[in-house]
Amino acid sequence: MELKEKITSTFESRFGGHGTIYASAGRINLIGEHTDYNGGFVFPGAIDKVIMAEIRANGTDTVRAYSIDIDDYAEFGLNEEDAPKASWARYIFGVCREIIKRGGKVQGFDTVFAGNVPLGAGLSSSAALESCFAFALNDMFNGNAIDKFELARIGQSTEHNYCGVNCGIMDQFASVFGKKDHLMRLDCRSMEFEYFPFKADGYTLVLLDSVVKHELADSPYNKRRASCERVAKRLGIETLRDADMEMLDSIKSDITAEDYFRAKFVIEEKERVLTVCDALVKGDFDTVGRCMYETHNGLSKDYEVSCEELDYLNDIAKECGVVGSRIMGGGFGGCTINLVKDELLPAFIATAKEKFNAKYGHEPKVYEVIISDGAHKVTE
Ligand code: ADP
Ligand code: MG
Repeated sequence: MELKEKITSTFESRFGGHGTIYASAGRINLIGEHTDYNGGFVFPGAIDKVIMAEIRANGTDTVRAYSIDIDDYAEFGLNEEDAPKASWARYIFGVCREIIKRGGKVQGFDTVFAGNVPLGAGLSSSAALESCFAFALNDMFNGNAIDKFELARIGQSTEHNYCGVNCGIMDQFASVFGKKDHLMRLDCRSMEFEYFPFKADGYTLVLLDSVVKHELADSPYNKRRASCERVAKRLGIETLRDADMEMLDSIKSDITAEDYFRAKFVIEEKERVLTVCDALVKGDFDTVGRCMYETHNGLSKDYEVSCEELDYLNDIAKECGVVGSRIMGGGFGGCTINLVKDELLPAFIATAKEKFNAKYGHEPKVYEVIISDGAHKVTE
């Protein structure tokens, strides 16, 4: 395995000898978009793209870390005032600090790490990095006493407190709990979750990264949240989780058309996650795919978080007979996730590259993913 060899040989030449190797994964979300902050469901799975780290206690109070991919070295102490400058190192520092804040133990260690989760493509390389170290430090210094959900929260708090990203729990949850051939339906109200087998024999999940990111001035994310909150308040409920279309239609004349369509998307999306789970249990991939297209349509027309490039990728998928395709992530750029019959895959990828390039002057990036294990120990 190339990644592992690269890490072990670098560790040996930098620090001498060997430590223990851990890994954690990036993630996809099959369906359930903009549902997390509405108390709804998300349906993520860990993927076969990971951050891997070799780690060994060094008997000091200092962490010495080398990032192979960024080709950068950082050294930091474990006290609050020792926060490193390099942003990649702040993820590791944050995880250490969040463990210590919760009463856990962290000693100084040496580490070399690398990964193959594309950075900033929406596959959550940052959650993979946090979860890898949270899992490892729990194993090395805490006898695995910290429960797995808390490991995910440690990663989330790291983003909030050390990296300036106010994220939800899904990415870290998926990275920590991921299981080969399974997706996980997480209830963002109760935080309960359930594994669903996802063994899509004859199908491939492929992401097409538009490599565009439209930064909009008026914080569309906050505006979407505000719409949802307004409608929930008008209905006298805590979140749109407790709403249905009948309730929404009963207040239609009292709210703006914009708020109506935002809430409509959220209510329909919540139902779609449940429909997809049922369909998966039955092996009904046509229904799974149809729901993915419906999600795309809702995100584009009702929630209005798509963009020309993503709609174009979705249209190409439809033309090529792809079973399901939709925007993955917050929108305004980034990836589409596509469920493709294996025999159609080469033609779909070739067509998408050619057409997208002809229209926008660059090809989309292509990431095939396999649903895989989340955080784990790679070697003793
Ligand atoms: P993503 O959507 O991939 O999570 P983020 O911007 O949240 O994008 O996180 C990317 C950041 O995580 C990088 O800027 C870097 O600091 C850190 N990171 C991710 N992968 C690696 C890696 N392989 N090596 C070093 N740092 C990494
Ligand atoms: Mg991230």
